[in-house]
Amino acid sequence: MQVTVIGAGVAGLTCALELAERGVAVEVLERAPRLDGAGCSWFAGGMLAPWCERESSEPLIAELGAESLGWWRTHFPGTVARGTLVVAHARDTAELAQFGRRTAHFQHLAAEGIAALEPELAGRFAHALFFADEGHLDPRAALRALTERLSGLAVRVRFGVDVAPGELAGRTVIDCTGLAARTRLPQLRGVKGEMLLLHSDEVTLTRPVRVLHPRVPLYVVPRGQGLFMVGATMIESDEGSRVSARSMLELLSAAYALHPAFGEAQVIEIGTGVRAAFPDNLPRLQRVGRTLYINGLYRHGFLLAPALARRAAQTVLEGRQFPEVMHEDPRERRLA
Ligand SMILES: Cc1cc2nc3c(=O)[nH]c(=O)nc-3n(C[C@H](O)[C@H](O)[C@H](O)COP(=O)(O)OP(=O)(O)OC[C@H]3O[C@@H](n4cnc5c(N)ncnc54)[C@H](O)[C@@H]3O)c2cc1C
Repeated sequence: MQVTVIGAGVAGLTCALELAERGVAVEVLERAPRLDGAGCSWFAGGMLAPWCERESSEPLIAELGAESLGWWRTHFPGTVARGTLVVAHARDTAELAQFGRRTAHFQHLAAEGIAALEPELAGRFAHALFFADEGHLDPRAALRALTERLSGLAVRVRFGVDVAPGELAGRTVIDCTGLAARTRLPQLRGVKGEMLLLHSDEVTLTRPVRVLHPRVPLYVVPRGQGLFMVGATMIESDEGSRVSARSMLELLSAAYALHPAFGEAQVIEIGTGVRAAFPDNLPRLQRVGRTLYINGLYRHGFLLAPALARRAAQTVLEGRQFPEVMHEDPRERRLA
């Protein structure tokens, strides 16, 4: 069997790998000239946080996310398993209590516990929640590692190939084109996310730290070698090229309030990506003719992609059904 995967974001690459590992002849077509900056995946934080995400999402996200965590550990050696620390400044302690009520799989920490985990935060927060079983990765390193692994399995990722709808009619296709699939999946919408990369030799946080706030909850994810990703805004918009001054102020203020040494950090990059989401913010495998779409990964693409990729491979190869993520919309059949 031969399968063409369109899109070299995290959904497309994990899917290609799941198929190639099962002996399928796969090719990946990507319209961008290179991996760098190609799609939304390039700008992600890389948090693998199934239980934290439960705060604002359905139980399905935690289930698929927990499954994917194991996949990342076996497929990407750069996966870091140091948990997630969730903190709130003194005026926002109600947010921390609410976060705890909506989530599970954490332990309460007092000031000494926080200091033991992240000595630089000693004395800055009285309470925290620690999600010990969560992880994180550098999305850019992970995307590169996936393409290398694919090339080891003789799978070519062909860059600079913009596939027009209908162009591959008659072939078995898995469409992982994110928001670009909106012409065929009209229910998709864009949720813009702005982020920063900072460099500081003085900050040595070792795990993602989420700072709760009633209006602008934000997080800092360590990338190693003094790099930190600060993210991310959630704006109902599919405009993906501009970053507002307000967003920059909020991201920088949150980083500075977490750790004053971020005030001296260098701004390495200001970026923005647009997450593709369905109205219920849940991911879908959607079959339209011979094309299977993997889409709607919203704010959970790295967290969910391996679990969706596994299901997609089993759907295409074995005809299995996964009602928890499968979606059929007769109105969209004609768009095959
Ligand atoms: C700021 C920010 C922070 C985030 N943080 C996290 C996080 O911490 N953890 C997490 O799990 N998720 C996070 N996300 C969400 C995650 O990034 C997305 O869910 C994920 O990247 C979606 O992946 P994808 O492969 O579906 O889409 P994309 O990464 O957008 O990939 C789609 C690809 O298809 C290509 N393409 C489109 N049309 C065509 C065509 N016609 N022909 C060929 N190629 C085409 C595009 O160029 C693109 O490369 C974050 C998102 C943002 C914006």
